[in-house]
Amino acid sequence: MLDLKSPELKFALEAVRQASRLVQTVQAEMVSSALTKGDKSPVTVADFAAQALVAKLMIDAFPADPLVGEEDSAALQTPEEAETLARVTQFVAGPLPEATRDRVCTWIDHGNAAPAARFWTLDPIDGTKGFLRGQQYVVALALLLDGQVEIGVLGCPNLVDGSIQQIGGPGSLVAAVRGQGTWVTSLDGAGDFTQLHVSGRDNPADARLLRSYEAGHTNVSQLDILGENMGVAAEPVRLDSQAKYAILAAGGGDLLFRLISPKMPDYREKIWDQAAGSLVVQEAGGTVTDLDGKPLDFTAGAMLTNNRGVLASNGPLHAPALQAIKQLGA
Ligand code: AMP
Ligand code: MG
Repeated sequence: MLDLKSPELKFALEAVRQASRLVQTVQAEMVSSALTKGDKSPVTVADFAAQALVAKLMIDAFPADPLVGEEDSAALQTPEEAETLARVTQFVAGPLPEATRDRVCTWIDHGNAAPAARFWTLDPIDGTKGFLRGQQYVVALALLLDGQVEIGVLGCPNLVDGSIQQIGGPGSLVAAVRGQGTWVTSLDGAGDFTQLHVSGRDNPADARLLRSYEAGHTNVSQLDILGENMGVAAEPVRLDSQAKYAILAAGGGDLLFRLISPKMPDYREKIWDQAAGSLVVQEAGGTVTDLDGKPLDFTAGAMLTNNRGVLASNGPLHAPALQAIKQLGA
């Protein structure tokens, strides 16, 4: 069972819950009109607002802890972005009435720290395209200690029970603590925690692949060949963000390849895109490595410079998947 008395876990659950609520508010108020204009400002506003909120809660709860967040306020402080900063401040003032533009920028930049022996990493909105499409996105927060992920929390507004995609439902709060398993509860705060377990599928032909929508985040043609070579029969489940890791942890999918995009052969994964999700999968009984079978190395800074891509699986399908990657030279 989760130790719900742990101050770090209590903080992580509360921060992700509040940030998820905040980005849902931004989405409700800004996204529908923006979609027609092809305007990305709602996700910009939500991203910055969520980072400001989580950072401020962290300054209060753990003032000495560094936060490595995805956003930086420099981009918000230009004259052209004055309107965006005003919107961010207005949304942050919902949960934090003391918010001013200056304070919001200070809070956001609290998330500019470098990784240390103990630090947190935050993706305020992972899956920005899903957020704009009104589909899957998550708020991802992790605590790292000596290069190991200790706590990983995913706020998934459009998942139910960590595995079922339901837009506008109660949402899922998925939490993993090293040695304590992966658990899910409703994002709206009603109900208890239920433990999540990966699937037991061991025949590659039965594997359900979890895939990105974005072709540029992987190697689509290699993925198609990998699936064929492994004899995968089922249609892949497609969705944005680390919600894929929640679904894998809950047994709603079995394999996730993050191959190297041919357009960006030197791309390295960012720690905030992998830390929470990888612990969520591992504590549910799954396996996470890079494409060469090496453990993810979180000691290298803000990027996983010592790893190439990611392979996450339910466990039994890991070896066949690694073998298929090797055979293809992916
Ligand atoms: P997904 O929703 O699975 O497509 O992944 C979204 C994440 O992919 C974002 O958080 C980005 O940080 C990350 N990303 C951006 N560019 C690349 C790339 N070239 N290769 C892999 N991931 C990327
Ligand atoms: Mg991300």
